[in-house]
Amino acid sequence: MKAIILVIEDNEQNLYLSRFLLEKNGFHVIAARSGPEGIELASRIRPDLIVLDIQLPEMDGYSVARALRQTPALKVVPMVAVTSYAMVGDREKALAAGCNGYIEKPIDPETFVAEIGKYLAPLAPKGGPP
Ligand code: MN
Repeated sequence: MKAIILVIEDNEQNLYLSRFLLEKNGFHVIAARSGPEGIELASRIRPDLIVLDIQLPEMDGYSVARALRQTPALKVVPMVAVTSYAMVGDREKALAAGCNGYIEKPIDPETFVAEIGKYLAPLAPKGGPP
């Protein structure tokens, strides 16, 4: 079964590129354009990983991350923050908000999927010993 990745991203170009790269590599991508939509979808779908843009309108990615972590079913889902603001302290803020990792924009098509893959839990082997 394909791993499900929820991408919370308000920028259509970034969303297009993320989706293209992830789908090309065999992931199933679900998109949300805002924090509240992302939280609603995450609660309903329980994705295997969440890619979270930090610069979102209304509700920023840090608030979204905190809200997701307060949802019991989403306490341990891997979350990777994506931000163009390579400011000192951004990484710490993202991690403090509950993200497991951090990727800087612009997305590098050569490394994006490998970076994301680092945070995906390895698939549990199916069935018992032969
Ligand atoms: Mn954005």
